[in-house]
Amino acid sequence: MSKNIIIAIDGYSSSGKSSMARALAKRIGYRYIDSGAMYRAVTLHAMRNGMTSADGTVDAEAVTRVLPDIKIDFMVTPEGQHTMLNGEDVEKEIRQMAVSNFVSEIAAIPQVRHALVAMQQSFGSSKGIVMDGRDIGTTVFPDAEMKVFVNASAETRAQRRFAELIEKGTPASYEEVLANVVHRDHIDETREESPLRKADDAVVLDNSTMTIDEQNAWLLDLYNRCSQ
Ligand code: C5P
Repeated sequence: MSKNIIIAIDGYSSSGKSSMARALAKRIGYRYIDSGAMYRAVTLHAMRNGMTSADGTVDAEAVTRVLPDIKIDFMVTPEGQHTMLNGEDVEKEIRQMAVSNFVSEIAAIPQVRHALVAMQQSFGSSKGIVMDGRDIGTTVFPDAEMKVFVNASAETRAQRRFAELIEKGTPASYEEVLANVVHRDHIDETREESPLRKADDAVVLDNSTMTIDEQNAWLLDLYNRCSQ
């Protein structure tokens, strides 16, 4: 009989970690939490309330002040999980490039991280969860029984993200997407508060040349071993 565990899947932007985390959760009957969606929801709230400027700057103090008013949850619908910001379905809006352009700055604010990490830990209090992000194996659940760190080249990731945006009908250029991926990598890796890095005990998955089916099989095999 397998035991209920916590699965942490970290990695770079657009490495495909969310799709594989979601597929694994569905397969094994676990709850899936997209921690990046939570940072995106806070970013959308900040943008709507005039806390971001056209020159790319963010009013960190104002964002910190409104944190107690922000409630984030997930709603399961037939076509997938939707992110809820104070009861409003913002799933589509948080995926727009405008949000991607500010999210790493918002995610670098220590008070934002403290608030969201606490929410994320409460989601995992009874285990049986798959969470993906940047600091899940290092900060949110350092004792997770299964940790994966996903990577692929920036060009491969930008190409995937670009194809995804085009498929969803969101206007974007490949150059703009690549620049955003490189920009987010840099901020995520160099921020003071829980920067993106592989946990010492995480297993690395470089999926540059793997198909989706191969990735899913690899992940399921690791889960079977970690949940013994
Ligand atoms: O996963 P996704 O690309 O949607 O995440 C959006 C952004 O949120 C990332 O670029 C990163 O700056 C931030 N993030 C984070 N910590 C997490 C998840 C996401 O800093 N656990």
